[in-house]
Amino acid sequence: MERLAERAEAVSMATPASVKAKLYSRLVNEQAQSWGLATFTELIQRGVDLCVFEKLVQIAPVGEPIKRSNICRVCHARILAERMENAPIYWPHCPYVQFQNR
Ligand SMILES: [Zn+2]
Repeated sequence: MERLAERAEAVSMATPASVKAKLYSRLVNEQAQSWGLATFTELIQRGVDLCVFEKLVQIAPVGEPIKRSNICRVCHARILAERMENAPIYWPHCPYVQFQNR
């Protein structure tokens, strides 16, 4: 198991961050279209830490459909992460930041 974990880590580090970001965007988009996404409240109940932009939307007076959307899709983290390696994005818990090979 330990060797398998090491190999998975090596493959992850070898995969360009932009490829991971594009793949993530596509998977989340497909999930949103087929089953829908969880609300931020449901994510927190599952132990998921929200991105700072998701936290802002969570407390904003907006409707349920917006709270079920991929907020990280509209922030500049996605745009940078999909287009460059080692993108200058650093805020905690954003998936696009976590894909950076640092
Ligand atoms: Zn984010």
